[in-house]
Order: sequence, then structure tokens, then C-alpha cells
Amino acid sequence: MNNRVDFIKNLSKLFGNGIFSFISEIFIKKEESIITEKKIELKQLPPGATDRFYEKCINCGDCIDICPHKAIKKGDFPYMNISQSPCYLCDDVPCSKVCSTGALKAINSWQNIKLGLVGATFRCENYEKSEKICYLCQEICPFGEDCIEFNGFNLPIIKKDICTGCGLCIATCPQKEALCYFNL
Ligand code: SF4
Ligand code: SF4
Ligand code: SF4
Repeated sequence: MNNRVDFIKNLSKLFGNGIFSFISEIFIKKEESIITEKKIELKQLPPGATDRFYEKCINCGDCIDICPHKAIKKGDFPYMNISQSPCYLCDDVPCSKVCSTGALKAINSWQNIKLGLVGATFRCENYEKSEKICYLCQEICPFGEDCIEFNGFNLPIIKKDICTGCGLCIATCPQKEALCYFNL
């Protein structure tokens, strides 16, 4: 997606702002429809879940019990719903270490948690109303500007290689439609 944004920026340099606004409007609408189609509210597995999670998990509940933020829920298997209940990225990732069966693999540092990806709907709704970007998502993100950038067109861009998928930005955003979640 970043490449396409760069492409639009380059068009602006080549043809000026008038044609740029027109093209970017088409571009933004197309991206919004793609993201709306892809928007999913699926469950996520706890930090450190391995490829053999469903085979190895005995649903003992230890990872659920150790989570101080109640981010891991009980079901047929433990799960998370990041859009509703974010992961607070505990320093030592205790949930991943408590598992005795190998369903979860120990993660040594919160920076290595990878639960999913956050995407933007290509428009900061808060900006639309107040003509001011609130930057709340960027402020709450533990990586700050390194992970969430604004490109000058009220569009938050999330860097996929850095994002842990913790969901703190979604939980903080006052306009719930501005950010959406993708499973890995
Ligand atoms: S601690 Fe391991 S085995 Fe127990 S519920 Fe969590 S993932 Fe499953
Ligand atoms: S890292 Fe912390 S907040 Fe996130 S799921 Fe594990 S125990 Fe819960
Ligand atoms: S962009 Fe959102 S989900 Fe990704 S690390 Fe930052 S706060 Fe967490």
C-alpha cells in the first residue's frame, strides 16, 4: 500500500495539485472499498501460538489466567479478540511462557509479538470533523512514529514489519471506523 501512496505523491509532483486531488479521490475510494471488503472481526490466537497450536493446546487455561489484562478469552481454545480487547504487550510476555504443552512458544520480548495487522480505512475520521489529526493512535502505539506515520493527507500508514497487532491503536481511536484489523 505504501508503494501506491508513493505513486500518488509522485503524480502530484508531475501534474500539480488539481489533477492530483482528482486522482487521489479515485484512489482513496478504491482503497476504502477494498479494505471494507476485507474487514474482518476474526479471533486471534494468544502470543506465541505455533503452527501446531490446535494440536497441542489442552485448554488448561493457564495463559488465560496469567494475563493481567484479561486479553485472552476462554472458548473451545483460548483466543483473543483484539478489536475489542487489546494486548497490552507485557514486557516479559508471560502468557507465551506459561504454556506447558508447546502450543505457545516463549516470546522473550514484547517487540517480537505478532498477533495480526492493523490497516487504515484511508481516512482519519477525526480529521474530517475537526480538520485536525488527533494523533491518538500514534501516541498510544509503543513504537510511536516508527510504526504509524501520517502522510499529510490525514491517512495513518501502519508499518507492517514493525506492528505487533496489539490493537492498542484501535482501542484508542475515537472514530472506530478509521482503523481495522487483519489476521495474519
Ligand atoms: S497454556 Fe497452552 S495448553 Fe494451556 S490453554 Fe494456553 S495455549 Fe492451551
Ligand atoms: S502479552 Fe500480556 S496483555 Fe498480551 S496477551 Fe500476553 S499476558 Fe495478556
Ligand atoms: S500500529 Fe497499533 S496494533 Fe500495531 S503496534 Fe502500534 S498500537 Fe499496536
